[in-house]
Amino acid sequence: MPDYPTVYATCHCHAHRFPVFLDPSTLPKSEACCHCDVCRHSAGVPFVTCIRIPHALFPLTAPDPDNTTRSNAGDGHDTALPKGITSYRSSGHAARYFCSICGCHIAMHFCNQWFLSVGCITFPSLPEPGLQEEEMRAVDGIYKISWHQYLEDTGDGGIMKLMDDGLPRYAIRTDGALFSIRTSNAPAPTHSSDAPIKTKTGDVLTARCRCGSVRASILRPSAIPSGPGVAKRGSSDGQRWLSGHCMCTDCRLTSGYPVSSWTYVGREHLKLEGEGLVYYQSSQRAKRGFCRTCGASVMWDGGGDTVDIATALFERNEGEGVSAVEREWTWLEGGVSFAGDARDRGMKANASTGA
Ligand SMILES: [Zn+2]
Ligand SMILES: [Zn+2]
Ligand SMILES: [Zn+2]
Repeated sequence: MPDYPTVYATCHCHAHRFPVFLDPSTLPKSEACCHCDVCRHSAGVPFVTCIRIPHALFPLTAPDPDNTTRSNAGDGHDTALPKGITSYRSSGHAARYFCSICGCHIAMHFCNQWFLSVGCITFPSLPEPGLQEEEMRAVDGIYKISWHQYLEDTGDGGIMKLMDDGLPRYAIRTDGALFSIRTSNAPAPTHSSDAPIKTKTGDVLTARCRCGSVRASILRPSAIPSGPGVAKRGSSDGQRWLSGHCMCTDCRLTSGYPVSSWTYVGREHLKLEGEGLVYYQSSQRAKRGFCRTCGASVMWDGGGDTVDIATALFERNEGEGVSAVEREWTWLEGGVSFAGDARDRGMKANASTGA
């Protein structure tokens, strides 16, 4: 093991910068994108990508069904954790650790293995953020995304309908069957005038984080047709909201992961509930909201007529895929925002190609 850190784990607010020591003989690591429900709802992103690391980053918190969240926000609640870190037990065998200030998911302990979120990786030799080509080369030396897993949880493939990277897509784990992207009978609308697919979702779309401390209900544009956000980001039939994917540096460092998906909802059409929402000013013009308990990215709010809600948090009816809800409730504009900030070469190249 080298005696100097290979990389650092850094969050958006820079409250944290943990050294990570990697054995050079294990690099670059082959790692997965996980699309499971627990990852998507705990992080608020369409999939989670981490690298295995050989040492602990945080004290391990024991499974405890009555108290699944520990934090050291400076109140001494759990002094075993570094100040400004919250841990959340997202399942019996997974604990996630995120920044209490900016919400960035830094690390995860899963089945006796420590994982570092790839979006948090910074390099001792590069300024933050560095030139894109330099950063991409540095990232190439650390990990290579090699497969997708738990696509079964998305129902129909989720974001993989928009990313054709040629990598194996497993229904669950790599020792099981491959997953086939499912297309519904009706083609996915690509333009706002296309008719939405009718499902039993009804007229209120709901979203929630993993722990349920933040919940959102969203009305269709036509419910309040005079809302100023409707003309900008509602579909012409009044049924759906525009959505898109983002690879910007702010999204990466506030979530810990490479891709965020947002649905742009009229302010009058949105109702947020729950005691868990906390805000972080991520830029001069915008604040972000995340769940203080599970750390899920929930929203981006630039003060305009619409508010961005994390598409990963949408709830779907039994048997309906993620994209079935997305087709009925949202429409996508082609491409990915801020691909110029992306650091993962394969993802940058394939983020806007269809399956
Ligand atoms: Zn932070
Ligand atoms: Zn939560
Ligand atoms: Zn972004």
